Amino acid sequence: MFTAFLIKYAEIAIKGKNRHLFEDALIHQIKYALKKVDGKFFISKTQGRIFVEAQSEFDYDETIDALQHVFGIVGICPMIYVPEEGFEKLKEVVVKYIDDVYADKNMSFKVHCRRIDKNYPIESMEVNARLGEVLLDTYPEMHVDVHEPEMVLNVEIREKIYIYSTVIPGPGGMPVGTGGKAMLLLSGGIDSPVAGYMISKRGVKIDAVYFHAPPYTSERAKQKVVDLARLVSKYTGPIYLHVINFTDIQLYIHEKCPHEELTIIMRRYMMRIAETIAKQTGCLGLITGESIGQVASQTMNSLIATNEVCELPVYRPLIGFDKEEIVVVSKKINTFETSILPFEDCCTIFVAKHPVTKPNLNVIRKHEHNLDEKIEELVQTALETDELIIVE
Ligand code: ATP
Ligand code: MG
Repeated sequence: MFTAFLIKYAEIAIKGKNRHLFEDALIHQIKYALKKVDGKFFISKTQGRIFVEAQSEFDYDETIDALQHVFGIVGICPMIYVPEEGFEKLKEVVVKYIDDVYADKNMSFKVHCRRIDKNYPIESMEVNARLGEVLLDTYPEMHVDVHEPEMVLNVEIREKIYIYSTVIPGPGGMPVGTGGKAMLLLSGGIDSPVAGYMISKRGVKIDAVYFHAPPYTSERAKQKVVDLARLVSKYTGPIYLHVINFTDIQLYIHEKCPHEELTIIMRRYMMRIAETIAKQTGCLGLITGESIGQVASQTMNSLIATNEVCELPVYRPLIGFDKEEIVVVSKKINTFETSILPFEDCCTIFVAKHPVTKPNLNVIRKHEHNLDEKIEELVQTALETDELIIVE
């Protein structure tokens, strides 16, 4: 029955001259999301509204699902189109619409008409009154409340006439592409996919880097990260995932540095390599899934140590989140079930029994000098053997 959707977006963020950039990015993302849906759509923008009109048969549930993954959308209103055949026809369509959509008609309502086409012969107040009257006559259970109605029947009169009354929530945020690009350090855990989702929600395009350590980490562990990237890409659009072979670097650190500092030093090399790729690919920041105190490498002292090796800002959107709060988001974005699959991760394999929680920077730097002989070459090789996977 529905043939079109009115897309609502938050207007506060887009006052002034940036408005068209916001709208164009939103339309671009809507088109991308709808590519995967069965059906043909026409997307248009008029007077501060975006319309998605179906031009063929289409799958309603798939369409709603796709639109609910487009950042920037706050509401999706399924609309029906009223053929321009006079007011009697409009009345008839409205009466049938209410019957189709509301099994229980015991509700308060008001009619809200927007007459954009000023050539339409009846003024909006008059449309409201007449349609209200016909509904009251047809459905005695309904009653008018103009202040806090349970249902608002919207009538949009433009070249075509549309009616709608329901708003399906969108994901909010800003359209991807309005906020630059950042490099996500994506592991197979629960946290980093959520971190990527959260930064992307602010309009940032995401690239990702995964450090794997074959044969200590398996092909399945890598596949799990690709799968997580694919789930996140439902929101972010295509993700360029860089897979870096970290084995030799890790073994070398293991050989040369105190074991309780292994995780910190390893994380410093991850950050350095991620930043190098980020700078080469035009990323404006790094993103991690760190949260204060979650593990030894995420105390405030440890964060100083991992932070000092990068110049780019490191965005840590989960920094103040408890694990349970992160899990809630990961379930919402459908990454949780994949994240908890039990494949080893390169951080856990070489992990010390008692990692330092308050690393001393001078000590860490000094121990890193144990690596002077070979580390530069190892990092270079890791960068040169970067495997790029485009995930969408
Ligand atoms: P996550 O659930 O995201 O794996 P975690 O709780 O396991 O996080 P750590 O292992 O300390 O925490 O990792 C902290 C952050 O470092 C991760 O959120 C991620 O951004 C990055 N990271 C850790 N391991 C890797 C890896 N193998 N490849 C890419 N990034 C990683
Ligand atoms: Mg992890």
